[in-house]
Amino acid sequence: MTSKPTCGEHQTLKEWRPTTFEYREEGISVRVPNVYAWVCPEDGEASFTPEIVDEIIVTVRELLESAKRARARRSVLTEYIVSVGEHAA
Ligand SMILES: [Zn+2]
Repeated sequence: MTSKPTCGEHQTLKEWRPTTFEYREEGISVRVPNVYAWVCPEDGEASFTPEIVDEIIVTVRELLESAKRARARRSVLTEYIVSVGEHAA
């Protein structure tokens, strides 16, 4: 891990902590909570590392495909929460 990045807008040191990764495409959003990123303490803006994005994006793409299929068959269900392993809380 290199030195802490600084928020260009607020000139504050970002904090390495869990936040929510959010991805939107074609009106579908996928949220992945408890992902570590550099977060600005002022506005909560997160900078995800390329390694983490690479890991998450594979899963996010699969979830998007599932959501698109559900929409195509006009499912009444519009929100899904998927968890893997032990609950952190
Ligand atoms: Zn900031």
